[in-house]
Amino acid sequence: MTMFDNLTDKLDSVFKKLRGQGRLTEDNIKQSMREVRLVLLEADVNFRVVKNFVATVRERAVGQEVLKSLNPAQQVIKVVRDELGRLMGEGEDNSLDLAARPPVPIMLCGLQGAGKTTSCGKLALQLRRQKRNPLLVPADVYRPAAIEQLKTLGKQLNIPVFDSNPDVDPVKLCTDAREFAELNGYDTLILDTAGRLHVDQELMAELQRIKQALQPREILFVADAMTGQDAVNVAESFDQQLDVTGVILTKLDGDARGGAALSIRAVTGKPIKFVGLGEKLDALEVFHGDRMAQRILG
Ligand code: GDP
Repeated sequence: MTMFDNLTDKLDSVFKKLRGQGRLTEDNIKQSMREVRLVLLEADVNFRVVKNFVATVRERAVGQEVLKSLNPAQQVIKVVRDELGRLMGEGEDNSLDLAARPPVPIMLCGLQGAGKTTSCGKLALQLRRQKRNPLLVPADVYRPAAIEQLKTLGKQLNIPVFDSNPDVDPVKLCTDAREFAELNGYDTLILDTAGRLHVDQELMAELQRIKQALQPREILFVADAMTGQDAVNVAESFDQQLDVTGVILTKLDGDARGGAALSIRAVTGKPIKFVGLGEKLDALEVFHGDRMAQRILG
């Protein structure tokens, strides 16, 4: 199973039928759009997103330029491609905003198992490649295993990890780390915050306190793409409480359906800034909506 396989295959069979028809009528297009709608719902795309998407594509596709063009099926597919790109924020600048006085804090948040700690390591590696000098901060003080995991990643990357222990208050830990970074010339703080299995008010309160104290330049919600609409719903609640600046969508390498990738931008209004494409530490890419749309259409 690879990325978007399922979605790509199903869209492909819808378009095959369309191509086989030569000339197209409005009814042909309406029929195809009904099929696209089902494919997207099966892919676990948010139903409101599907509704808007199909309505927009239908409106553009039954336009005279498409129907009268030499190759109408190809034009319809192009409209779908364009709208998929738009849905995922095509053309947006998804780079991190680090334009602040160093050390610049970047906070990662999300449910346990979403890929926060791994993404912290991946991000640190990217930033170092951009000649920045990051410090990893294990603000998930409750789980010694999480602290150890970040330390192991830090060792592998040769990037320092601020010292932590389970008795310290996470906000204090973060402000101490900021002071340490200031004194030691680290220009970026990557905060690996605590996660829970479900959205939890106590955790949210803690994350809000960290936000308040550190004023992170970026607050990135880490979403496991394989959990589809669950990821989108959780993203919405994190965003309501923390006003996140963007999303890191992990495990896209194993996501055959694409539901989270296609809806999270539209539902939250926040850009996908990075995608995780594997467990290895260099498997993180800056997100491009247009390239992703192209990949989905095979
Ligand atoms: P955390 O609890 O949010 O900190 O999650 P972890 O960083 O511990 O990640 C949970 C699991 O997901 C680990 O086994 C990671 O190796 C794996 N993982 C994280 N990101 C990716 C990704 O982009 N692709 C794949 N295939 N696995 C990932």
